[in-house]
Amino acid sequence: MKRIGIIGGGAAGLFAACLLKKFSGGEMLNVILLEKNEIPGKKLILTGHGRCNITNLKPASELKKGYHEADNFIYPALKEFGPEDTISFIENDIGLKTKEEDNNRIFPVCDSAARVRDSLVSYIADSTKTICNSKVLDIRKESSFEVSTANEKYNFDYVILSCGGSSFPQTGSTGDSYRLAGKTGHTVITPRAALAPVKADDESLTFIRNLSGVSVISKVSLFCNGKKTAATEGEILFADFGLTGPAVMEISREIPRDISDCNPYFELDLVPSSTDEQFDQEFQKLIGEHPDTKITTLLARYVPASVAGEIAAKAGVSDLYAQGFTKDNRRKTVNEIKHLKVGIIREPSIDKAYVTRGGVSLKEVDRKTMQSRLVPGLYILGEALDIDGISGGYNLQACMSEAFLAVKDILGN
Ligand SMILES: Cc1cc2nc3c(=O)[nH]c(=O)nc-3n(C[C@H](O)[C@H](O)[C@H](O)COP(=O)(O)OP(=O)(O)OC[C@H]3O[C@@H](n4cnc5c(N)ncnc54)[C@H](O)[C@@H]3O)c2cc1C
Repeated sequence: MKRIGIIGGGAAGLFAACLLKKFSGGEMLNVILLEKNEIPGKKLILTGHGRCNITNLKPASELKKGYHEADNFIYPALKEFGPEDTISFIENDIGLKTKEEDNNRIFPVCDSAARVRDSLVSYIADSTKTICNSKVLDIRKESSFEVSTANEKYNFDYVILSCGGSSFPQTGSTGDSYRLAGKTGHTVITPRAALAPVKADDESLTFIRNLSGVSVISKVSLFCNGKKTAATEGEILFADFGLTGPAVMEISREIPRDISDCNPYFELDLVPSSTDEQFDQEFQKLIGEHPDTKITTLLARYVPASVAGEIAAKAGVSDLYAQGFTKDNRRKTVNEIKHLKVGIIREPSIDKAYVTRGGVSLKEVDRKTMQSRLVPGLYILGEALDIDGISGGYNLQACMSEAFLAVKDILGN
């Protein structure tokens, strides 16, 4: 009987246990899942603001673009077990109906990540021995694997390493994957924050704090050493510490690790649908048509009133009416609304990041099986790997697709 050890009962570990059951085809397996927390899936419960954005219903060729540098690595996994397979598994095996929301995001109809976690745990109750409060301290490979916790030693023919990354450490993901993979000879690319909120400098906070809680659609460009290094577009949210929201979180991974000598800042284009020239012309026309209207009122046609007020204040035009508005006033206003500068005070904190960029080097893992190229029988899944996806269900889908390849290889299917 194959002895399979799953180290870490987060999304990837639970999915692997589920798929081992689903595809075992009646083969008797001895599956043990070791989880260091008192319950499995602590991070899973938090996903999708407690609703669990389980996957994203795009074709694999589109979906892979959401995994940055790992796009080609993950493509075979997405092709073999894609979003439709995940939905089918969640609906038909786990028994939770799903629904599609904007941008192809899939959620359970019950809107409960806790129910997803509970249903996965129930599904494997008769196929997997789940041992909680069991922190794995060491993995050694002789003829088989010896896996040690503080009190026990386990022997396995196959080990699935799924201890997560370093982000949201209160959920149990404290970088153990990297230490354990390192002990087996793997190279670990330095873990960093991805999908993280960003702290603004004191100067920027003077206006950002007044907008706390307001969200807008914006183009977000990252500048380092005065050069644009990345850009994205989407919803941003002003917060009392700086900026968050999907677009800011998406670009956060591009902020350099050591920011001391690159002076990074964001430039926000709060009217991304038009160029500077188009906006300037349109605004000029608006000013001409409404001479008795306050400039802040006209700006509020493009952005929320509170944002319009701050833009006008920064441009020094708060008290002006359209009829007294000079060309120079207009130039400054257009500049503030199209190139609003937000200084970045530090590298985003990994503690607040939704996922980890970095992890076990993909050069040392077979992308068709997720098996280590260095240690036969060792499979590495989820955030342990140097893969991070954008938000929208990409990271859970990666766990699911990778788990499928590992399970298929272990079962010899
Ligand atoms: C707030 C938040 C919301 C998110 N929302 C979404 C979303 O809606 N959709 C999406 O696709 N992604 C989302 N993500 C990302 C997603 O949750 C992660 O990418 C995913 O959980 C990674 O799975 P994993 O199994 O690799 O790691 P984890 O889920 O972190 O699981 C790792 C597990 O290993 C255990 N462990 C660690 N070390 C040891 C050890 N030494 N011995 C035994 N066990 C150990 C941990 O306790 C943990 O249970 C979100 C993340 C956060 C933080």
